[in-house]
Amino acid sequence: MVTTHEQETTQRARDLYAQAEQSSLEYWADRARNEVHWDTPFTEVLDWSNPPFARWFADGTTNACYNAVDRHVEAGNGERVALYFEGEPGDTDAVTYADLQARVSQAANALESLGVTKGDRVAIYLPMLVESVVSILACARIGAVHSVVFGGFSAEALRSRIDDAEAKVVITADGSFRRGKPNMLKPIVDDALSAEGHTVDHVLVVNRNKAEINWVEGRDKWFHEVVSDQPTSHEVVWHEAEHPLFILYTSGTTGQPKGILHTTGGYLTQVTATARDTFDLQPESDVFWCTADVGWVTGHSYIVYGPMSNGATQVLYEGTPDTPHRGRWWEIVEKYGVTILYTAPTAIRSAMKWGRDIPDRHDLSSIRLLGSVGEAINPEAWDWYREVIGDNNGPGTVDADGNVTPGPRQDHPVPIADTWWQTETGAHILTPLPALTPDELKPGSAQRAVPGISVDVVDDNGKTMQDTTQGFLVIREPWPAMARTIWGDDDRFVNTYWSHFDGMYFAGDGARFDDEGDIWLLGRVDDVMNISGHRLSTTEIESALVSNELVAEAAVVGAADATTGQAIYGFVILTDEAAGTDPQEAEEQLRNHVGTHIGPIAKPKRILVTTDLPKTRSGKIMRRLLKDAAEGQTEADPTALATLADPAVMEEILSGMKR
Ligand code: ATP
Ligand code: MG
Repeated sequence: MVTTHEQETTQRARDLYAQAEQSSLEYWADRARNEVHWDTPFTEVLDWSNPPFARWFADGTTNACYNAVDRHVEAGNGERVALYFEGEPGDTDAVTYADLQARVSQAANALESLGVTKGDRVAIYLPMLVESVVSILACARIGAVHSVVFGGFSAEALRSRIDDAEAKVVITADGSFRRGKPNMLKPIVDDALSAEGHTVDHVLVVNRNKAEINWVEGRDKWFHEVVSDQPTSHEVVWHEAEHPLFILYTSGTTGQPKGILHTTGGYLTQVTATARDTFDLQPESDVFWCTADVGWVTGHSYIVYGPMSNGATQVLYEGTPDTPHRGRWWEIVEKYGVTILYTAPTAIRSAMKWGRDIPDRHDLSSIRLLGSVGEAINPEAWDWYREVIGDNNGPGTVDADGNVTPGPRQDHPVPIADTWWQTETGAHILTPLPALTPDELKPGSAQRAVPGISVDVVDDNGKTMQDTTQGFLVIREPWPAMARTIWGDDDRFVNTYWSHFDGMYFAGDGARFDDEGDIWLLGRVDDVMNISGHRLSTTEIESALVSNELVAEAAVVGAADATTGQAIYGFVILTDEAAGTDPQEAEEQLRNHVGTHIGPIAKPKRILVTTDLPKTRSGKIMRRLLKDAAEGQTEADPTALATLADPAVMEEILSGMKR
């Protein structure tokens, strides 16, 4: 059944591609004019006279906060809910765009009263609270550059980011709720600022979990005290399009985090356009839920700026998916009627591991589109995501023994957007537009560039790959939301991204075309394995492992080997149902499975069954540590360990490798 809406959106997607094909500069100029409010309209689209330092829409002026908040109120949509906040303990708040305008204005006035002016840096170290969004937008409003530091980072990591950006103010909370317990943040800020020599004058503290905290007189101030006395209006100040909007440090999966700088006009244009196109976002009727933390780029672009600039209604959830029980996310989807869900493969694989009985109990029929970001999504996980989460058309039935029979499925499958992009790209780069018919989608492939972006897969010499083997993913032309530099280090920006291939941006990821010209991501180039002269992809072998019924999650690395150059090691987490399987038997079965699915050359030398994998705080598998373990190291590198969400997982793996 093809609805009118689908026909219209399909036509719209085709028009966008066609228009961008004609001239990507005109396309972006058009999107910028249509999607963003400019106080002074720009006359020049792109200045690329000093590559790789781009200037987009440079003589225009705008304000990201005005676009995300005020313009919706002025258009008569002030009563629309902007954020449904759901706290972990179950407290809630529905914040309209008009409320938000008042709260952001107060926060902007408060920052100014503390002496923060345009260009100053403000570090934001907060959990997922309405105040986080308010603080980000207040900075944007006055032209202060925000640097959000994910609330799971240590004092040391926080301090290095504060120092690098020379932040004048830190906004934090006493603590948040996490897994039913207070998760304290203020003591970490105290610790970070305990050594002399920092640039911070004020620490603003949101009163979230009412826990006992230390107080440094003169420096520390309660957020509510400083903010609530302020006037609820604040006159918008217009900023140049190239005015810095934020600094955001990359996740640190591969090494030292880089302070990526994004500016205002181009970034806002691309996040607004892609939020609308990729998700087919209908601000009047959709309830959008992006489960990322605001501390990552996904939270910046697809909670704060993209959806809000479109005037969307969103869910903002403080807690984890399994507190107080493993059905919490599905309860939230049901409660708010979430129509678009945007999450990460790691979360999908956890839900798969816990079993479909949990989501099957819930009514998820409101969902009409799904998104994925952060890692490659294994085809198995893609299928499960669509079938169990996307196509749920009502709750299943539970019998007296607690067995669940799934409810009805959708009569036509919901589309999935597998979005490939990075902190550095600012916004979506590769993703199918789900407005195209769902049967053109390919599980596990991010497929194609969004309109107006020029992506390629090239060989070692920067030539477009002529076959379907592995090459390097590059972007050939500047794009509006591209990083402008690494904060304070132009040379590192040039060396890291622009020196591999002449005139092209190199992302660090391997990829290949398929026969139809669609792009498949194959993992980071650093992780590519070379087995007896054959280049093999970690992503493909992991997907083969996950396609076996025993496996919930898998990580694959190549370790130095005297005979083959490199040998493949697999690390797998079994599904809850398969948890009792004899590890030896599982290993044998899985080695053969990979052998039949990919080829004998791809058979891992060893597969270790483990209960957990080393993951960064953004949920990505850190293969570096697994490689060290496979190469016989008996202790994990402490710096890499410090960036893990749970450093203890390596103990089990290291002792498992000894056997
Ligand atoms: P660092 O650059 O500090 O090592 P990071 O690369 O993990 O950290 P991010 O910018 O958050 O930091 O992540 C971008 C990376 O995530 C991409 O380069 C890619 O490797 C991976 N990625 C994101 N989305 C996808 C996707 N849809 N498919 C495959 N890989 C993805
Ligand atoms: Mg990266």
